[in-house]
Amino acid sequence: MSPRVTIVGGGVVGLAAALALNERGALVQVLERSSRLGEDACSWSAGGMLAPWCEGESAEPEVVEWGRQALDWWETRVGGVRRNGALVVAAPRDHPEIDRFAARTHNRRWVGEAEIAGLEPDLSPRFRKGLHFPDEGHLDPRRALVDLAERLAARGVAIHFGVDGRNGGAEKDDALLDCRGLAARDELSDLRGVRGEMLILRTKEIALSRPVRFLHPRIPLYVVPRDGGEFMIGATSIESASRAPITARSAMELLNAAYALHPAFGEAEIVEMRADVRPAFPDNLPRLVSQGRRMYLNGFYRHGFLLAPAFAERAAAAIFATEAIHEDHRERRRA
Ligand SMILES: Cc1cc2nc3c(=O)[nH]c(=O)nc-3n(C[C@H](O)[C@H](O)[C@H](O)COP(=O)(O)OP(=O)(O)OC[C@H]3O[C@@H](n4cnc5c(N)ncnc54)[C@H](O)[C@@H]3O)c2cc1C
Repeated sequence: MSPRVTIVGGGVVGLAAALALNERGALVQVLERSSRLGEDACSWSAGGMLAPWCEGESAEPEVVEWGRQALDWWETRVGGVRRNGALVVAAPRDHPEIDRFAARTHNRRWVGEAEIAGLEPDLSPRFRKGLHFPDEGHLDPRRALVDLAERLAARGVAIHFGVDGRNGGAEKDDALLDCRGLAARDELSDLRGVRGEMLILRTKEIALSRPVRFLHPRIPLYVVPRDGGEFMIGATSIESASRAPITARSAMELLNAAYALHPAFGEAEIVEMRADVRPAFPDNLPRLVSQGRRMYLNGFYRHGFLLAPAFAERAAAAIFATEAIHEDHRERRRA
């Protein structure tokens, strides 16, 4: 029999899990507290980098391993996935930062001025030394969420908006998968918030084909190109669960760094400034926590889009295994 699963929370983690479960044959519904997709989700603020090897600079080796399957998973399910790699550069005075980055990462190659110009002509001749990560990619996270929701709808999976999943909404026999992000702190006591601030700029004066990380000892920055001449500029990482608007200082630092990467950003329109809070466990790794037929999938920190595929599949497998045991118990009781 197909298991029935109610998922609480319609951010990237909840939607990816809904799809992974439904693809295996589960009957799934998603309960989302806010009134529309992304309205109250950290996922709406993400850069959309699918960058396991770059993240290896500061993340545990597991992140690199789990993140490797992300590009294939997303590419077969949503539109707009780009497999153009990623570029890391620094101003000449900060070249030790690139050496440090290189020492902590794999699956990359050194590039000089001519190669940087070949990859990103608009950055020429500003940078003499960089790292190219050819197997990385990126997507527009908002488009990915919309595409996921449409794909789910086409498969008969309903997302019920305006429903607080803590107050019911699931059938008695449903397995429950809690993907509430930071809101699950009420039940996951070691979940914490890591504030991230970002900007979206628009300009036709510069074009980039891939995410560019601009290293700096104080304000490292990344720029992720999107359609329509838009660029996501991110992101701060502050030990705080405050979702208050971006501070003037953070906005100035991000803008200054963008301007230092390319002066054309000085004339760009500011389309959006935003702050959100990443849900994280103490080791900054995601967890699937089982409590009988209730499971929690959370703690995706900086890696919601990168690691949702691996963990959605893992959660789906765990739910099918648990439900098979329950079905077996039910059969024995009936016999
Ligand atoms: C500035 C920034 C940049 C980032 N860049 C990247 C990146 O480039 N690549 C990457 O992989 N990751 C990135 N991340 C991290 C990523 O955004 C997060 O890891 C991810 O969004 C977490 O997803 P989630 O589904 O767990 O939580 P959320 O997206 O917060 O979703 C949780 C959902 O649960 C709902 N909810 C809460 N309570 C209830 C309830 N009681 N009932 C029903 N629904 C409820 C909420 O409304 C929300 O929609 C970035 C994050 C930030 C802030």
